[in-house]
Amino acid sequence: MPALPFMADLFAHDSQSTEGFLPAGVSYRPGLVDAATQTVLARAVADIAARAPFRHPRTPGRGAFSAAITNCGTVGWWSDQRGYRYVPAQPESALPWPEIPQAFRDTVARVMAGTPWPRFAPDACLINFYGPGAKMGLHQDRDERDFAQPIVTVSLGDTADFMVGGGVRSDKTQAFQFRSGDVLIMGGEGRMLFHGVRRVHEGTSPITGLQGRYSLTFRKAL
Ligand code: MN
Repeated sequence: MPALPFMADLFAHDSQSTEGFLPAGVSYRPGLVDAATQTVLARAVADIAARAPFRHPRTPGRGAFSAAITNCGTVGWWSDQRGYRYVPAQPESALPWPEIPQAFRDTVARVMAGTPWPRFAPDACLINFYGPGAKMGLHQDRDERDFAQPIVTVSLGDTADFMVGGGVRSDKTQAFQFRSGDVLIMGGEGRMLFHGVRRVHEGTSPITGLQGRYSLTFRKAL
């Protein structure tokens, strides 16, 4: 695990500092992606969705996700009754997932400069869409091969109430408002913390043409 002395520096210039609020290894960076870039990223998501449509995957139990899901990258995260995993092709069409767009890679490179993972090179981007009433229960991201690699989330559109807990599901959670253009990095000792989306505030998206919320979560899956 890398040491994380950089966290205090990251928070020092943020307008909504969460220093001392979120656990170590969880870096919340409000407003890091500017409005013009948010629009570019949202359009790139629409292009991806035209080639890899959003679906509501089945959970391994009886339900389905209330968020709709698609992916880009070498592999995509998926769920069905066989469980959670990364798959090399779209389950319904057998087509490959679209490539990660250059605009996504540029944003990741900018976000990760100055962190312990400046050359973080995601091979998968899970894109969740939260429409009215969608949420995501507390979970860990644990389907990747190397937990030394961080998970990087960029939020677009509606504001979400995002929860971060501890290393076990029953640990107390803290919530904060995750807005369009904000970035969350979970790495090092924060990598395996439980997290989820309690609710999304409909109608708060600042992006023209986007109603609802996209979360882009960048992973090194393989
Ligand atoms: Mn997650």
